[in-house]
Amino acid sequence: DRALVWFRRDLRVEDQAALYAACKSAQAVFCLFVLDQEILDALPRNDRRVGFILDTLCALDAQIRRICPGGGLIVRYGRATELVPQVAAELAAQAVFTNHDDEPAALRRDAQVAQRLSTFACAWHSFKDHVIFERSELLTGAGKPYGVFTPYKNAWLRKVDAFYLRAYPVNRYQGALAPTPLAQGVPAPTEIGFEPDSVNPAVLGGSEGAKRLFVDFLDRIDAYAQARDYPAVKGPSYLSVHLRFGTISIRQLAREAWARMQAGVRGAEVWLSELIWRDFYHQVMHHHPHAMAAAWRPEYDAIQWEQGPHADALFAAWCEGRTGYPLIDSAMRQLNSSGYMHNRLRMVTASFLVKDLGLDWRRGERYFAEKLLDFDLAANNGGWQWAASSGCDAQPWFRIFNPVTQSEKFDAQGRFIKRYLPHLSALPDRLVHAPWLAKPLELQACGLTLGADYPWPIVRHDEARAQTLARYAVVKTRA
Ligand code: FAD
Repeated sequence: DRALVWFRRDLRVEDQAALYAACKSAQAVFCLFVLDQEILDALPRNDRRVGFILDTLCALDAQIRRICPGGGLIVRYGRATELVPQVAAELAAQAVFTNHDDEPAALRRDAQVAQRLSTFACAWHSFKDHVIFERSELLTGAGKPYGVFTPYKNAWLRKVDAFYLRAYPVNRYQGALAPTPLAQGVPAPTEIGFEPDSVNPAVLGGSEGAKRLFVDFLDRIDAYAQARDYPAVKGPSYLSVHLRFGTISIRQLAREAWARMQAGVRGAEVWLSELIWRDFYHQVMHHHPHAMAAAWRPEYDAIQWEQGPHADALFAAWCEGRTGYPLIDSAMRQLNSSGYMHNRLRMVTASFLVKDLGLDWRRGERYFAEKLLDFDLAANNGGWQWAASSGCDAQPWFRIFNPVTQSEKFDAQGRFIKRYLPHLSALPDRLVHAPWLAKPLELQACGLTLGADYPWPIVRHDEARAQTLARYAVVKTRA
């Protein structure tokens, strides 16, 4: 039998469910990645993710060639709905193996591919690989999906065991990988219409990049519980982009964290909890696909957001890091310059957009979707709806982060702020969170002119807070 493995969010050869299943069952296995025009056409021409993907594909291609000389990754550019059946037919494959992708658009695409394959009797086999528990694997006692995280997490921890965390030993069957003249290397960014420098040199792609981060993080995991909230500190794992593209197996990460948790390591327990949030939002997406475009709690769609030129100007200032609130501005600059933003800052900047600027959370969600290297529909939507209070298990609507106290608490000495806003570097700790409170002489002593070197705040937090409470009152009356 001949099988084709279609890679998507699983760009590795180790512990890969579909690759394992294909190699175990077929005599000749071929590997395909489609640079899907449907997705790529919508992206800016210097999109950093394209660089990450191409780097990662090169690494994957090399790994496959190492196992099977004369083999390699078949890379095609075009529409996946046409190319997958076409390549399967060219190779006379009897089956296509792939891993689940539960995003609504991916499910539609996959249904179309499977249907086309069936016209020439090519089977479609799809596997769970991206999360530990998916779809309806964890339901409440009443058989309903969980809408609250803590009971979900408790159920997750009750159910998980070595079976769910075991690795798929691809190496046992990898002899099935077959040579093919169709594997002709990975195109350069310019060959698919992207700028040559769309690569982000700070982030190493492929399984090697993921492994290095994970090894480094395991040295620090004990401290995660304390360190993770301070953006100036190297606290989190920075693995999100690798989890998004599957260059490392979620089972490996969860297994290591679970073992350390059982040995009493608090940091590992807290980190595992973050991995469970990832599963949680994936199952939310599966059960509530409508919430990927609208409020999870429909009554929140009645909120009237700011609109018009003034709202557009506020939005532009937020995007560009010109709000006059140093924590917000440094966070947005981190995002714009690196494609990454610290989790605490994602929470604070999202809250600021919705509850200080009064803008529709979908505008911020879209901006993050464009800029984040680790953009993931389920997690991003979950995070935004958490901040907007419209999601399941979200921040209550009357809870509004104060951007100054968040700054004092999580970047007390302004170390993170000053890294991204060097103009503020001379400000003393007490003023770096709210430079507008400085006396003229103090500003002068720091060589800072507000309005020229750094903006005045675009909104007053106390006024914005009052407006937000009024704006959200519509929810109270409808709920
Ligand atoms: P670590 O702290 O090391 O966490 C390990 C892994 O756990 C992460 O890589 C991620 O896969 C998962 N994780 C952690 N927190 C969450 C969470 N709250 N929800 C879901 N998964 C989580 N995460 C994304 O992967 N993609 C997104 O597009 C995304 N958008 C977000 C938008 C907003 C408004 C908010 C508040 C959060 C968002 N997150 C998103 C979640 C979280 O901020 C990132 O996963 C995390 O900052 C990534 O850094 P890390 O890998 O160093 O995290």
